[in-house]
This record gives sequence, C-alpha cells and structure tokens, in this order.
Amino acid sequence: MNQTSEFLQRIELALNNDQIRNNFRSAMDGLMSKRRDQFADIDELAALRTQDNLIRVNALLKLPDLLEQLEQQLTNNGIVVHWAENADQANQITLNILNSKNAKNIVKGKSMVSEEIAMNHYLEKAGLCVTESDLGEFIIQLAKETPSHIVMPAVHKNRREIAQLLHEHFPQYPYTEDVDELTGIARQIMRERFEQADAGISGVNFMVAETGTLCLVENEGNGRMCTSVPPLHIAITGIEKVVEKLSDIPPLLSMLPRSATGQKITTYFNMINSPRKTGEKDGPEEVHLILLDNGRSSIHQQQDFFETLLCIRCGACMNHCPVYVRIGGHAYGSVYPGPIGTIVEPQLQGLDKIGTLTSACTMCGACAEVCPVKIPLPKLINRLRAEAVGGISQTLQRKAPLKKKEGMAYLAILAMVISTLVGLSAISIFGHTITLFNPQLFR
Ligand code: SF4
Repeated sequence: MNQTSEFLQRIELALNNDQIRNNFRSAMDGLMSKRRDQFADIDELAALRTQDNLIRVNALLKLPDLLEQLEQQLTNNGIVVHWAENADQANQITLNILNSKNAKNIVKGKSMVSEEIAMNHYLEKAGLCVTESDLGEFIIQLAKETPSHIVMPAVHKNRREIAQLLHEHFPQYPYTEDVDELTGIARQIMRERFEQADAGISGVNFMVAETGTLCLVENEGNGRMCTSVPPLHIAITGIEKVVEKLSDIPPLLSMLPRSATGQKITTYFNMINSPRKTGEKDGPEEVHLILLDNGRSSIHQQQDFFETLLCIRCGACMNHCPVYVRIGGHAYGSVYPGPIGTIVEPQLQGLDKIGTLTSACTMCGACAEVCPVKIPLPKLINRLRAEAVGGISQTLQRKAPLKKKEGMAYLAILAMVISTLVGLSAISIFGHTITLFNPQLFR
C-alpha cells in the first residue's frame, strides 16, 4: 500500500469513529475559546506576535554563533553538552550516559524530541525501565500509543477510557471515573517512581545562549521532579530552541501558554543553570544536554523553509485546524500532526515518505492567524504540496548537518553585506524585515 492509500485509510478510520471525533471537537472548542479569552486585546496580540517573531528570526539568523555561545556558557555552568546528528546518535549518547551511572529506572518529562527519535523504545530495548511522568504521556504509554497532540498527548481519550486504562494496569486502586481521584491515583504511582529513579530525562522549551539556561514550561510539577530528584538529569532538545538573551524569554513565555492552553501562565516555569552546587540540598549531581540536529540544519539552509524552525511548539495551529479537529492526530501517521506536522514531517522524513500529508490542508489560513511566531504555514504547506505533486525537488534533499559556526552564518553575513552596500539599516529576508542596526533588536 502506498503512503496516500495508508493516509486515506487512517482518515476513514478516524472519521468513522464518533468517539474520536467528539473527543477532539470538544477539546479543541474549549482550547479555542480559552485562547480567544486570553487575547481580548488585539493590539497587544499583534505587538507580541511581531516581537516573538523577531526574537525567533534573530536567533535563527545567528544560530551557529548562539549555539557556540550556549555550549560555552553551559560548560562554564557545569552542564555537559553533547551534539547528536541524528536519532541513533542521540539515543546512543543517552544510553551511554545512563550506563555510565548504572541507571536502570528512568523518569521522563514530556519531550516531543524524544518522541521524534523513539527514545523510550530504544531504552526499553536496552533493558531499562522508563516511566513517562507527564499524565498525558503516562496514559498513552500505558495504552501503547503515540501522542495525538504535541501539547496534550492523550487529548483523544476521554475520562472513561482513562479510568479503564488505569484500572487495567493498576487494579490495586479502586475503579473511579472522577477526574480528581484519577489524578490522585496517578500522583501516588508517580511518587514511587520518582523515589526509585536513577535518572530523569526532560525536554527543553527554550535555551538561553547568554546565560546557559535551560527553560522548561509545565503544569504538573513532574518536570521539576524529573530534573531535580534523581541524581542524574539528561535534557534533550532540537538545536533551533536557542534564543539569544534572557530578556527574550518573557515575551515568548507571555505567548506560549496563552496560545497553547489558554492559560495566562503555566503552574511551573523551571530555569536550570547547573547541577547541584556545594551546600545545596537538592538538584542532580550531573546535568547533560543533548542537542539534536536530525535534519534541522538542512531546513535551516533552505531559504524557502527556514521559517519552519521558528516554531515554539504551542499547538495552537492544530487546535484551530479544521482538518486536525476532524481527523485527530493519529490519522497523520507522524510524530508531529496538524499544520506544523504537515511542514515539519515531509522535511524531516522526505516527501517520498510522507509528502501526502501536504494534502491535509484546506488553505483556510486559520493556523497562520493564530501562530504566535507568525509562521506562514499555508504558504509553506502549499510550496511543499507543489513539490510533492511535481516530484522530489532538489531543495528538500538533506544538506550536511550544521556544525556550530559553519553553514547558516551566511544569512547574517549576507544581510550585513547587502545592508552595507546599499546603505540601509534594514533589509527584507524571506519576507521578514531585519533591522540590522536596531539596538532594541540586536542588543
Ligand atoms: S507552528 Fe506556530 S501555532 Fe503551530 S505549534 Fe508552532 S508556534 Fe505553535
């Protein structure tokens, strides 16, 4: 069966499943309404979107330098940095670190990058016990499923399904469909796992080059437990998650939870700067960061698709997508579903493997309207769709991985040269006006 037939089969399955359709419809309606309430002031929203777009564009234009600075700062702070070109390397590095400490019991915080490289499968095959500690991730781990949404991985399941799943795996607890009681049971199970854990693995939302800080946004406190209770913490993330300065974080943080779940702020915001210092009562003795490329350098060097990497993984584009709402995340057959998945997956995996995803778009433009960093999603989907229909283009062939200063620095240099030659203080690259000598932007 070819990729199109498989995709159509998954779509048909989803459309014929009333429960899936109802679960997604009610969850997405709730999220859209909560987000709308958060952005009642449209002028504030417009200003923040512009600011966040510029922060991310600036970070990507300076990516090689910022990654070097980040590595230096993290190393100064006592965090060990590893570079992984692909999924295999990232998994092998993780396993080597765990083996070096004889770590067998692992607790994990939510990380889409770890989903991208199928880390749980790799570690379990090596004989390790991995427990997902984010409630949604824990539920789908029990169900042996993959996330159907990048922020709410178990959004396709309703309360009754979750109650049955927990009871099936933990019959020592009484059956209940009460949400608070279900959460209480999961909390008790998780406490024991945290106490037994030899290592914690987490994702990272933002990395600050200026200070060597890893930022983690979460609601359940499990991220903090993963990164502070076990003696070893391994963080993993994509190379694009770096920003230049600590002052870049508040505007991004102002948009991320409001766009994602309609919350003004999340319950926890963790800033990790170093392992436990002498005299401190908690925190891991060792912290490692794995920086994953896995095709991102290639995207970074394609001027037509560069904006893909602006993404802060808020999920708003899928919450507002009429296709995603009807077919749900699993129908896409990819780690990243919805509009962002439709542009990321064909670039990471290749149009020949998953180019048919580009047909899952009505070009309504809702995703681009809500994206907090102004990624022109329909434009990128349309471009990829044209390539998928017309055959595999040269532009989507993988380029060599970006090794720190090599590669993408040419964009910043190009901008500077053009600007100097024509005497402008601002030029437009890929549709973005880059104000080169604006101290507000490049300070
Ligand atoms: S593309 Fe935009 S809206 Fe979608 S997840 Fe990324 S940042 Fe959020």
